[in-house]
Amino acid sequence: MSKEAFIKPDNKTKDKTRVGNYFISNYPPFSFWNEKDVPCLQSVMQSPSPGDAPLGLYYHVPFCRKRCHFCYFRVYTDKNSKEVGRYLSATLREFQSYADSPYIAGRKPKFIYFGGGTPSYLSAKQLIELTDGMKKIMPWDEAEEVTFECEPGTLSRKKLEAIKSIGVTRLSLGVENFSDHILDTNGRAHRSKEVFLSYGIAKELGFENVNVDLIAGMLEETDENWTDCIERTIDLSPDCVTIYQMEVPFNTTIFKNMKEQGKLTAPVADWPTKRRWVAEAYQRLEEAGYTITSTCTAVKNPDSTKFVYRDRLWAGADMVSLGVASFGHLGGIHYQNLTHIDQYCTAIEKGESTVRRALMTTDEERFLRELILQWKLGRVRPNYFKEKFGVDLSDRYGEILKQWKEEGDLVESGEELSLTREALLRVDSMLHQLFLPQHQDARYV
Ligand code: SF4
Repeated sequence: MSKEAFIKPDNKTKDKTRVGNYFISNYPPFSFWNEKDVPCLQSVMQSPSPGDAPLGLYYHVPFCRKRCHFCYFRVYTDKNSKEVGRYLSATLREFQSYADSPYIAGRKPKFIYFGGGTPSYLSAKQLIELTDGMKKIMPWDEAEEVTFECEPGTLSRKKLEAIKSIGVTRLSLGVENFSDHILDTNGRAHRSKEVFLSYGIAKELGFENVNVDLIAGMLEETDENWTDCIERTIDLSPDCVTIYQMEVPFNTTIFKNMKEQGKLTAPVADWPTKRRWVAEAYQRLEEAGYTITSTCTAVKNPDSTKFVYRDRLWAGADMVSLGVASFGHLGGIHYQNLTHIDQYCTAIEKGESTVRRALMTTDEERFLRELILQWKLGRVRPNYFKEKFGVDLSDRYGEILKQWKEEGDLVESGEELSLTREALLRVDSMLHQLFLPQHQDARYV
């Protein structure tokens, strides 16, 4: 790994936003997943079923109407309906091969997640045909949650009715901002009018849980506009609000422009400003009756709003991933599919493996993955880790926990260790301290 690939996280200081991924979404870091471990996944698939151990399903739709300037995913904006059709058929064949394997056969998904890209890019007809095909392969009647990510400008009443009819319980709207100028400046395809329209129809149709995604610190964001975004969000009154702090990964148009102009600092707000914006948003959301349940989520009814996908996955559940570049986890093995759509479809059509890289995790890594991800909720219960992994957190991390307490980041109350709000907003940068030594200098994408 080259030196410039090392990304040191921003901490609590005056840091500018530089290029890199800071947000931790898995552990060990993706850069340690490799080709050598791919056969381990194949042998897990041939091993006996773990019975009723929880299983999830992630389905990746890699198409978008337009590429956002901050996007670092591999997305396709130029595929015609024949190419989309080829992709959908390939994913069904991929699903069938998992469903036929001894490890998965007879199991049913407890949670399903359609992510992207833009799942709502698919037409109502494509969606219904796709999900009918998926349900034939593996019924969804035991699914506790079906999440579907949407770009507001792709939604119509007909599309939302189709999404509701396939069994979606959690509709996630990628609103990001309410200013048309900021949406345009950041390369988003939708405008605020489409947000209001689609949100209204979604509420009318009675989705169980509607989430609004926002990003703090988009290009040209201002104090005044951000305050306005929060007020408009509160007026909509969604069940859940997710707020990300803008990062500028390597593979983005923003970084490409920075490189051309020889700039090291991204033309977006610095980290303290982004954290202040999120803190202000959380304060307003709390005043409006919301509860902050993680570093990036606020919910209206914490007792009824569930995050089955997140909670099951973070607790180590199996998850079959379908589609190009998608990430899965089976029998303790992380894996990712091939990242080019042609390569992916061709592999399926030839009956070859679609897996590009994998990582056979150790007990220690699985423990740490769970601990790291749970800290992102802002609280952990030491007894849980003692019972599940036999690890005493105060023995193992005494020094770090002491330091966090002394710095005013950690509070101990009863059976829980909790991060203060200020610490919760920069938790991703704190968690690197817990990484195993060999993972300390990792690049995340
Ligand atoms: S909609 Fe999402 S996946 Fe598509 S280009 Fe924009 S950020 Fe990327």
